[in-house]
Amino acid sequence: MLLARGANKIDFINDVRVRFPDGWSLNFRSDVYTFTCSRRLLEDVILEEVRKHKNIKILDGRKVEGLLADNDRIMGVKLNDKSIYGDLIVDASGRNTNTPRWLEELGFGKVRVSRINSYVGYVTKIIQLDEEPECKSIIIFPKPPDNPRMGVLLKIEDQKWMVGALGINKNYPPTDNDGFLNYLKMLEDDSIYKFVKDSKPVSKPYSYREIGSKRYHYEEINMPKNLLIIGDAGTSLNPLYGQGMTIAALTSLALRKYDMKEIVKVSNFPWLLGTSEDFRWSATEGEKPIITKFIQWLVHYLMLLSTEDKEIAYRFARVIQMLDTPTSLLKPRILFKILYKSIISLLS
Ligand SMILES: Cc1cc2nc3c(=O)[nH]c(=O)nc-3n(C[C@H](O)[C@H](O)[C@H](O)COP(=O)(O)OP(=O)(O)OC[C@H]3O[C@@H](n4cnc5c(N)ncnc54)[C@H](O)[C@@H]3O)c2cc1C
Repeated sequence: MLLARGANKIDFINDVRVRFPDGWSLNFRSDVYTFTCSRRLLEDVILEEVRKHKNIKILDGRKVEGLLADNDRIMGVKLNDKSIYGDLIVDASGRNTNTPRWLEELGFGKVRVSRINSYVGYVTKIIQLDEEPECKSIIIFPKPPDNPRMGVLLKIEDQKWMVGALGINKNYPPTDNDGFLNYLKMLEDDSIYKFVKDSKPVSKPYSYREIGSKRYHYEEINMPKNLLIIGDAGTSLNPLYGQGMTIAALTSLALRKYDMKEIVKVSNFPWLLGTSEDFRWSATEGEKPIITKFIQWLVHYLMLLSTEDKEIAYRFARVIQMLDTPTSLLKPRILFKILYKSIISLLS
């Protein structure tokens, strides 16, 4: 459906040029596929698919204003004009969820929250390019501690491209055209700038600021029966690392287990990966996970080796895309390559 409407199915290793802090990741054919399209197209297609199910009733334009509880059980939700009861209540209301406050008011206790803010800012535009790159996407990562700028250029539907300038550590990209282009020029590589400088704007620039990471520890409380929380309402991450939609999808699948502790587990590694990278920057605030240094060390060498070793580039891409769990990286061969590289780097 997405493809029929113009989305692109791309091989993440072959069709995407990824500039890690120390060089370009290798490109070769793989089975690591991803889709690129506008958010509007993605959400339209999902909604159309949901509407095909006759047993699903969508109440448009309604706001949930509270939970209905009976002893240790959530019975339903309150809307402004009526109440709805159900056997299972799922909170999928995104990063501004009210569930922790409502649970506390209903006497279920306080849900501990971890917050980490690396002061990220985004500016995104849809454009048309005169000259298109041979690849389907270019991603240029920041290089800590000196270059906090990141850039993304990706092909969406209808011969259009989306360009994003992302800054971390309070380095917010400007929205005016000259400032935006100048920001792209200052990325670790200027290839995105070169493609975008003579492009035709299709949309105005959209700006988004200070999107921190937030994680509610539902695994620590006695959850009321019949209530589960998925997606950003449970864990919302700094969007720089592009994991949010996959977590939302995987937590939806985990609903089958009917256990909040199992749903929480889905975001354990993405949380560690994202927040460890955040702590490479001096302005980052929040509670630092104890294994941050180890994750930073591991990710540094995985990125470095992805520029020269096909096996690592492939394994790391599968983990970033959340197709494999991080334990797939803990194989003796891979650990040996990482250790060898780190010893060589220390000695040189
Ligand atoms: C700037 C930015 C860029 C991002 N880029 C990426 C990316 O490249 N890749 C990626 O994977 N992720 C990205 N993300 C993260 C991604 O958008 C989220 O992780 C994802 O949308 C979470 O899905 P969700 O369904 O949990 O929540 P949401 O998509 O936020 O949906 C929540 C829905 O609930 C509705 N709602 C809220 N409160 C109520 C209420 N009281 N009653 C009724 N309805 C309610 C909202 O209107 C909304 O429709 C980005 C996020 C931001 C902010």
